[in-house]
Amino acid sequence: MRGHDLLHPRPEGLYCPPGDLYIDPVRPVPRALITHGHGDHARPGNSAVMATQQTLDIMAIRYGADFAQTSQPADWGVPQKVGDVTVTFHPAGHVLGSAQIAVECGGLRIVASGDYKRRHDPSCQPFELVPCDIFITEATFALPVFRHPDSKAEIAKLLRSVRQFPDRTHMVGAYALGKAQRVIRELRDAGYDEPIYIHGALQKLCDYYETQGVALGALLPATLEKGSKKDFAGTVVVGTPSSFADRWARRFADPVAAFASGWMGVRQRARQRGVELPLIISDHCDWDELCVTIEETGAGEIWVTHGREEALVRWCELNGLRAQPLHLVGYEDEAED
Ligand SMILES: [Zn+2]
Repeated sequence: MRGHDLLHPRPEGLYCPPGDLYIDPVRPVPRALITHGHGDHARPGNSAVMATQQTLDIMAIRYGADFAQTSQPADWGVPQKVGDVTVTFHPAGHVLGSAQIAVECGGLRIVASGDYKRRHDPSCQPFELVPCDIFITEATFALPVFRHPDSKAEIAKLLRSVRQFPDRTHMVGAYALGKAQRVIRELRDAGYDEPIYIHGALQKLCDYYETQGVALGALLPATLEKGSKKDFAGTVVVGTPSSFADRWARRFADPVAAFASGWMGVRQRARQRGVELPLIISDHCDWDELCVTIEETGAGEIWVTHGREEALVRWCELNGLRAQPLHLVGYEDEAED
């Protein structure tokens, strides 16, 4: 069997003919396998969905319990037959419940990594290396200029600023699924045990992470109605990037605008967003980690998608690997990093 016969792009998403299934479809399909709960990978309206229990739970939180007609949980590392293929879910280290999906048929194994990272993240399962024949990698930060710093140092930078400006409110923008909980958990690991104030849009997912054993400490609603602006002086407020564009955000006392994202390594992006304190904390691999992972899978062929495909395809070819860009539509460049 050739790779293309096992998986290939269709307008709906990455299609597997022998399993009659799609991985992370962008349009509703009869059978979808979902890597993780971010909105550009997990969409409502599919008939049958297979994903890890945590991804199913997250989809229900975001879209309601009727996000699909039927759902089937995939246990970590347990092969399951779908049509003529065997599928296995392995941790991707991206957000809670995020999976790489291995698809096997006729002696050929393709691993669709979804979004993934190799760095330590106290809020989700660590990435697991899965040997395969063809590895499908994301390429969000696939340029040699992208080298993410240690996230502990970024958290320390935030805490230094909190100590330095006790009269100001530190407003940390972070995506609602994954990044927000990771930043909060890393603040706790760094010894910060004051209450952290959160925007209402984060409440349900933070509560869910708690039920899954990710302790986030004291979280309080960041609502100004309950007190005066001064109540938030010296505190850390975490909200979604969009909430910080609301009037809600402008009511805090002398805020320090911080933003936790891999893109904060690009000064121009930080400036465009009016970010005073950029925190380079990414849920994706940087360039070195992408290259190392590709080598470690032992795959002879690499399909590159979601981002800067050309540089990584070129790197693969220079290193003796067959490689091609996989042109999937509908995935956003920086929606949830
Ligand atoms: Zn993602």
